[in-house]
This record gives sequence, C-alpha cells and structure tokens, in this order.
Amino acid sequence: MKLVTYSLEGEPRVGAWLDSASIVELSGTPEFPDSMLGLIHEWDAWQERLPALIEQGPRRSLSDVRLEAPIPAPPRDILCVGKNYVDHVNEVKALGYGSIPSHPIVFSKATTTINRPEGLVDISADPTETTDYEGELAVIIGRGGRYIDERDARDHVFGYTLINDVSSRDLQGRHVQWFLGKSIDGYAPMGPVVLTEEAAGNIRDWRLQTQVNGELRQDASISQMIFSVPEVIATISRYVTLMPGDIIATGTPSGVGAGHEPPVYLKPGDEVVVSCDAIGELRSRFV
Ligand code: MG
Repeated sequence: MKLVTYSLEGEPRVGAWLDSASIVELSGTPEFPDSMLGLIHEWDAWQERLPALIEQGPRRSLSDVRLEAPIPAPPRDILCVGKNYVDHVNEVKALGYGSIPSHPIVFSKATTTINRPEGLVDISADPTETTDYEGELAVIIGRGGRYIDERDARDHVFGYTLINDVSSRDLQGRHVQWFLGKSIDGYAPMGPVVLTEEAAGNIRDWRLQTQVNGELRQDASISQMIFSVPEVIATISRYVTLMPGDIIATGTPSGVGAGHEPPVYLKPGDEVVVSCDAIGELRSRFV
C-alpha cells in the first residue's frame, strides 16, 4: 500500500493514496495515529486492519488537501549514502571527489532540510549559486536495531519514498565536510508517498529518474547501486542503533548538474521531478 502524510486546515494527518486524484483518510479512525512516525511505532497493531480501513474510509480529493513530506520530523538527521553509483562516481571524479568507495560513505543532512512534494526550494540561501539536484531512493526504517544482518535487513524497513538530496556544490567543498552544503533549510524535498515494504517486491527492478524542466537528466536502475539497501542497513547498524522513522537516502545516479561540462546548476524558476515507477513523482520548484 501507499501511505501519505497530508494536512487539512493546517492539521497533519495520515492517509492512503488511492490514485493521482484521491486519498483515503485514516487519521479520523478512533485512536489512529495522527503522524506517520506514530503509525510506524504502532505498525504491528494497525497493519492487518489497514486494507479494511482503506476500503471503507472517507475519500478526499487530492486537490482539497496538501501533501506533506511523509515524515516531516524524523527522530534525527537524514542518513545519506554518498557515491553509490559507479557512473556518478566517475562524473564527479574530476571535481576532486575521489574514486569508487570500498565501504559505504555515510553522511547526514539536517532534519530542517525536509520539504514537501510540490514545495518551493529557496536557493537564494546558497551564496555560491551552485545548487544541484540528486534524485534518490529513500528507505524508511520501521523496526530499529543494531547489528542487523544483511539477510534480515528488509524486515527492518517500513517503506520507500523519494528524496531530492539538494546540494550546494561549492559549500560542500568550502567546508570540507558535506553537512552544510547538504543542509540548507528546505534542501530535501521528500515524497510523495511511502510504498510499504510488504508491497515493494524486488526493489532492484525499479528505475529512478530525474527531470529538470522536462529534460531527462538522471536515469538508472536501483540494481546499479554499489552498496545495496540491505548492505547499507547492515553497515550503518553495525555502529549506530537504527530507530523507527530513520530515513536513509541511498545515493544518486549519474547526471547531476555538477557532472556536466561545464556544470549546470539550478536557477530560480527551474522545476525538478524525481520519479520512480513504483513510488510516483516528487516535484519541486526552485525559487
Ligand atoms: Mg546524495
């Protein structure tokens, strides 16, 4: 199933995505959590009841609500994997970002970057005017844990969504560590839905694409990741206890603006759409 966080008259709620025009309200159900994070914590109690609730629940037109990021306030910063597609490593090599990693590169991005689907990304806060897109598959952790075995990793996944790991390239370089260049407020559009793990199937078959103003810039298969989703979960949890609601951005394929010769950065008025056949389209306007 596909779940959404949305707001109605300013109140956050959880619903299920029916189609591109409508959702079903879930938060109106007595005792149903009013946030996705709450639902993740109570997943065992609600999972089996959800199909019936979706069948019977009140319908809402998507045009009457505002979609929000699936988890607007996660328990901590977004965990991100850098350089996880070979073609992307090669395109940024010339910028001084080194060679193919032998272990996953993990960095973080502030929670205040989180932005909603159809949201505005304010690039005037980047004094270097080198803001770039990175379309990525994001994993949302359901059951936390430490020392998670790669073979059990997907039992710990709540679901999948899309993220645009918007990055200021010159700030990344200027401050050496990537955190500031990746963490300007609003620089992580996320959504539009969470596809739950039990409905996900073979995620390696999915295609991830990014378009800028309608032009296809990134187009890759999830199977091209250097470190798979289970490997990433196993690696991080070897050292860090994963928590319900943690978000892991799994890296971007080739085709970013910095990889162009000369680089092509985002400018006010640009529209970026990150899409995945299984999940949907995450659209943002840069201003
Ligand atoms: Mg990234």
